[in-house]
Amino acid sequence: MASLWIKRYLFTCVFISCVFISLQTREEVLLDMKALGGELGWLTSPSEQGWEIVQTVVNSSLLYTYSVCNVESTDQDNWLRTTFIQRRAAGAARVLVELRFVVRDCSSFGGASLTCKETFNLHVAEADADVGTNFRKSQFRKVATIAPDEITAHGELRVNTETRALGPLSRSGFYLAFQDPGACVALLSVRVYYKTCTATVQSLAIFPETVAGGDSQALTEVTGNCVENAASQEPPRIYCTSDGGWVVPVGQCQCLPGYEAVGESCQACQTGFFKASQSDDKCQPCPKNTVASQPGSRLCPCLDGFFRAPQDLDTQPCSALPSAPRHLEAVTLESVVGKMELSWSPPAETGGRDDLSYGVSCERCDGAACQPCGERVRFDPPAAALQDPRVTVSELEPHLNYTFMVEARSGVSQFSPQRATSSLTTALRYTDPPKVTSMRLDERGSTSLSLSWAVSRRAHPHAAHRYELMFRKKENNSENDVTTYTVLVLEKSSVQISDLVPGTVYVFRVQALSPLGTPGVYSMEHEFETLPEVKDKPDNSMTAIVGASVGISILLITIAAGLLCYRRKNQSTRQDPEDTYFSSSEQLKPLKAYVDPHTYEDPNIAIHKYACEIQASHISKQKVIGAGEFGEVYRGVLKVPGRKETAVAIKTLKPGYTEKQRQEFLSEASIMGQFSHQNIIRLEGVVTKFKHAMIVTEYMENGALDSYLRDHDGEMTSYQLVGMLRGIAAGMKYLAEMSYVHRDLAARNILVNSSQECKVSDFGLSRVLEDDAEGTYTTSGGKIPIRWTAPEAIAYRKFTSASDVWSFGIVMWEVMAFGERPYWDMSNQEVMKAINEGFRLPAPMDCPSAVYQLMLQCWLQDRSKRPRFADIVSLLDKLLRCPESLKTIADFDPRVSIRLPSTSGCDGSPFRSVSEWLESIKMSQYSENFTCAGITTMEQVLQMKNEDIRNVGVRLPGHLKRIAYSILGLKDQTSSLSVFAV
Ligand code: AMP
Repeated sequence: MASLWIKRYLFTCVFISCVFISLQTREEVLLDMKALGGELGWLTSPSEQGWEIVQTVVNSSLLYTYSVCNVESTDQDNWLRTTFIQRRAAGAARVLVELRFVVRDCSSFGGASLTCKETFNLHVAEADADVGTNFRKSQFRKVATIAPDEITAHGELRVNTETRALGPLSRSGFYLAFQDPGACVALLSVRVYYKTCTATVQSLAIFPETVAGGDSQALTEVTGNCVENAASQEPPRIYCTSDGGWVVPVGQCQCLPGYEAVGESCQACQTGFFKASQSDDKCQPCPKNTVASQPGSRLCPCLDGFFRAPQDLDTQPCSALPSAPRHLEAVTLESVVGKMELSWSPPAETGGRDDLSYGVSCERCDGAACQPCGERVRFDPPAAALQDPRVTVSELEPHLNYTFMVEARSGVSQFSPQRATSSLTTALRYTDPPKVTSMRLDERGSTSLSLSWAVSRRAHPHAAHRYELMFRKKENNSENDVTTYTVLVLEKSSVQISDLVPGTVYVFRVQALSPLGTPGVYSMEHEFETLPEVKDKPDNSMTAIVGASVGISILLITIAAGLLCYRRKNQSTRQDPEDTYFSSSEQLKPLKAYVDPHTYEDPNIAIHKYACEIQASHISKQKVIGAGEFGEVYRGVLKVPGRKETAVAIKTLKPGYTEKQRQEFLSEASIMGQFSHQNIIRLEGVVTKFKHAMIVTEYMENGALDSYLRDHDGEMTSYQLVGMLRGIAAGMKYLAEMSYVHRDLAARNILVNSSQECKVSDFGLSRVLEDDAEGTYTTSGGKIPIRWTAPEAIAYRKFTSASDVWSFGIVMWEVMAFGERPYWDMSNQEVMKAINEGFRLPAPMDCPSAVYQLMLQCWLQDRSKRPRFADIVSLLDKLLRCPESLKTIADFDPRVSIRLPSTSGCDGSPFRSVSEWLESIKMSQYSENFTCAGITTMEQVLQMKNEDIRNVGVRLPGHLKRIAYSILGLKDQTSSLSVFAV
């Protein structure tokens, strides 16, 4: 009966094909009643009474269903058990059972309604193996009571679909059973399945197919792997829902450097693109100045000549080195001595960077020798990494050349050995000190005067000028040429001078000094008078020597007697500040005392005080004429615009000198510049502003006296020679009057001009006589020219004008002997010994007796008994006025006064041959002459007279003398004691 109604209504049943369309879900069917058709083989219990299989044809195909409809009987317990359902996947712990069924309305059965049921039960029994027909109800567990949502009544078939989940299941398989308690049910379909979340790739992670709700959890956590060329910090995870859907992916896979995500894969960056890091970013085009990369590049390498700084990002373009800074300039800052500002323009090419900085290095060049400035100069700000294109350099030394190298650097400079450097060689350049244009009296008292002055408006506004103010009492007695000047160096253009004599006129003049101490032009002399003495209260503010003026820095020196230059009356004054050849302008007084330039704190002040600065361009060197202690001496021409061209000697300072040597070199000019005398070499000026310092003097055509005499041996008369000596003595008299001790008076330091006029030169060793009773100066060391130096100067360095007189005596001997070397080849030790034992040089051949007598006077042991230069000049004058006096020739007595060169062999034994003897006196060129003349033994030699020597062929006076002296010495058997007594 049950099967009938089922059959009837099944024709109208529309089977909905249950295809679960989900991209993520898949259903794994374990049992499908419909698919099995008539092969179901399900067990019923009790058999034949309860559930029965019904076969129906629907749309030409057979459809099998189970139905039961024992509604009228009580105690119905009809079971329908499926075949063993393999669970298959171990993970399928939760399976779904979908039932499609129809339940008839009990009311439609009339009187059976009391026993009729409208539900049935679903049971499950797990088993590890198929138990076949062995069916026991007790093994089953009830899963659910299945009740229809819609009941089939009045012929209207209502198909219900119910899905129930089973689980957790753990065994290999299970059986389902449908228990009918007395309902009218048709089981149209049973489908047992489980769901999976299908394998998926999400967020660049691959997740495997996963059984949904596997652990009977709603969500199953699944760990995946990143796709190829992707990575993540944590393993990627996702959840598989019980419905078989993927939710909540956790963790993030990102494409590796060089790869970008395209869909759900990581693909290599294309050529010309790069990706630097593991990220979600896309590949980017290669930046500027890089090489087009290979596919899959992490970065694009820089083109040749371009670099990346360490801090640069790979996404940034590569940059080139900067070019060198431009327009490097140095400006001497006048406000402080030794300071310059260097500035430059940034490089034309920055290389595409904005991290430009500059490094400045420096070399100081002393002549040709350059060395790094090191700590000797200071840069502000420090020169290592300057941001601005300028720096102040201080502690520079005047007169040195500096080479500054400014290098432009950027973050990429470290990668290239190339340097972007500009350099500049420069030296401190100060504008000339301004001219003091006016001077005024601001205030005066009986003992004080307050003065101020103005400088020319052309003065550099920021220059740190100092001023040198000189003042003296105005003397009414013009005869008195010994006036005391007071010199003040001031740092401002006003001063208050105190402690003056009341009612007295003072003469003032002032000059500006450059920062280096170079003096400018003196102002006019101004006279101001203190008020007459009044018995008023002393003015406290006027009591200090130089007043309260803070501007006064140094009380330099009080100098005697017109110490200031004006040594050359004819020198023109400076007319134009642009004309650098100038003399200290006006004259004050004739020179009376020599001032040691070493007493100046700054020797440069002394140089410019006593020497005129000559522009290097006004000098041209022509020929080297000698070698001085500091460098070559040239003959040259001085050509100052508007003046007559003058022949000059130019002493140069050889390259590589130290500043001390430079000052020592120039100090000769500071000394020479103080002298003005016919017989003292005249200083034309100095070149100090040019890198090679020079001393320019008058040119002496015949050079040094010693060589001049040797070259003209025997060619000059005694009268001429004495005339020369008179000139030297006059020069020395002048020096002695100036309290100047020469200390190196020798024929080699006397210069001879074309008129055979002799002038004293070489003031290098000079030292001043200090103001003590004897006017002597003792130095602590230095080289002493022993042969020319007085015994007391050698013994205890007592250099005085009297010791210069001794030297003059030696010069006399040199002159009269035509440049013979004093004491010939005796050693210095021998000379000193002989002198101390009282021996003196013998009279040169043909020397006037009066002249030799004067020499001997000069060589008196007691220096106070020696003649003074004034005496010497007047004696020589007398001799010259009376030439007859020169006729008496000094005795030439070998027994008393001679130790001649080489009177015996080196061991003291007599010479064995003539040639041995000639060789010992360096005359072996005459060996042949002697042999030819038949003079072959020393006995014959000892017989020779001057005439015989000439006849042998010895013509040169010097040689003649040398041979004659030697023979005389050989004749004198006692002369081996080596000397000459006075
Ligand atoms: P000094 O350094 O003064 O000893 O000079 C070296 C040499 O240069 C001298 O021996 C002279 O031969 C020569 N000399 C120096 N000054 C002059 C000058 N004014 N006129 C000519 N020759 C000079």
